Amino acid sequence: MTDRAPQPVDRQLPTEESRDLLALVREIAQREIRPRAAEEEDSGRFPREVFTLLSEAGLLGLPYPGEHGGGEQPYEVYLQVLEELAAARLTVGLGVSVHSLACHGLAGYGTKEQQGAHLPAMLGGGLLGAYCLSEPAAGSDAASLATKAVRDGDEWVITGTKAWITHGGVADFYTVLARTGAEGPKGITAFLVPGDAEGLTAAVPEKKMGMKGSPTAQLHFDGVRVPDARRIGEEGQGFTIALAALDAGRLGIAACAIGVAQAALDEALAYALDRKQFGHPIADFQGLRFMLADMATKIEAGRALYLAAARLRDTGKPFSRQAAMAKLFCTDAAMAVTTDAVQVLGGYGYTADFPVERLMREAKVLQIVEGTNQIQRMVIARHLAGPETR
Ligand SMILES: Cc1cc2nc3c(=O)[nH]c(=O)nc-3n(C[C@H](O)[C@H](O)[C@H](O)COP(=O)(O)OP(=O)(O)OC[C@H]3O[C@@H](n4cnc5c(N)ncnc54)[C@H](O)[C@@H]3O)c2cc1C
Repeated sequence: MTDRAPQPVDRQLPTEESRDLLALVREIAQREIRPRAAEEEDSGRFPREVFTLLSEAGLLGLPYPGEHGGGEQPYEVYLQVLEELAAARLTVGLGVSVHSLACHGLAGYGTKEQQGAHLPAMLGGGLLGAYCLSEPAAGSDAASLATKAVRDGDEWVITGTKAWITHGGVADFYTVLARTGAEGPKGITAFLVPGDAEGLTAAVPEKKMGMKGSPTAQLHFDGVRVPDARRIGEEGQGFTIALAALDAGRLGIAACAIGVAQAALDEALAYALDRKQFGHPIADFQGLRFMLADMATKIEAGRALYLAAARLRDTGKPFSRQAAMAKLFCTDAAMAVTTDAVQVLGGYGYTADFPVERLMREAKVLQIVEGTNQIQRMVIARHLAGPETR
């Protein structure tokens, strides 16, 4: 890693307050998060204390209303915060995005009583959330999920296995999608399950290619009882709630991808200006200059695309198609840019002495989570051709 912090990105921000917010986030990211990233990703240490710090700084509830402890920030600001965090360490940026996803259901579909009871702790009280949709046999086809919730008086009894859960085993609350009715999307209901619920256990975390500091684990629900007061929305409304959260969540993944790509470009540029071959800094050679120019262009285009989708959301307009496009484009851009960054560093890029190989491994997961990029293309094509088509 280069010693000096990279130059700040020249951002478009709507207010003085949002400019101050980004400056604060950048300071936390560069001081508390970036310096420990390489070592902790190598050892697989989850930085729980960083999330506590972010909660204390008001950064875990940014896009939610102030009434219950949220930061009341538009998505165009919140996403740029995620980008800064992910540039310092993806485990943190993606972790905040997943936490936001886990709050989305209750904030959007909960009753006033539920929101008053739970949201303050979720948005700014130090709690960390997780979002449980995927299962071992239900990934892209999430509507086929099999985890069951059966009503027993005033309670629901949840039984089944969730897979790939970010923060699985370390979260304080889980937003869980379970089957309460017939097969298909209309038989699914959402629940808010406390992390210490009896009968809820986490498996040993997956051994992943990257983002090793972020625990990803199966969760087993063995007759977990939750009161009906923890049901989010109506019975059968769960899949609608899950998809609404994913539309917003995909923008979070897009922003994280641009953060990872920006970090890779910063490293590659610093290296290219410093490294000499044939008597010149390698940044003097047109072959590399063009590569750096292409990397920077992909990043700017990705940032513009996710911000355009965010601004649609901020003005209450439909943004589902644009969110899918932003997730697809930004994560493919991150994969391409991080791969090129390794190339710019030559043999050194292929070693763990520099962060670009880690950034390349991290970029890969972003093409998979919250709907693979094949699924994003399906979503975009459905918007083009009409919902009745495949
Ligand atoms: C690190 C990590 C963290 C995650 N965190 C969470 C989390 O917090 N919560 C959660 O619920 N899930 C989480 N996931 C799960 C993630 O969302 C799924 O992995 C993803 O949706 C894909 O599901 P799958 O892995 O079962 O792949 P599959 O659905 O089996 O897909 C396999 C391949 O087939 C392709 N494919 C499938 N269907 C089609 C089709 N119709 N057309 C074309 N191609 C298709 C896919 O694109 C993919 O390339 C996480 C995954 C990872 C790796």
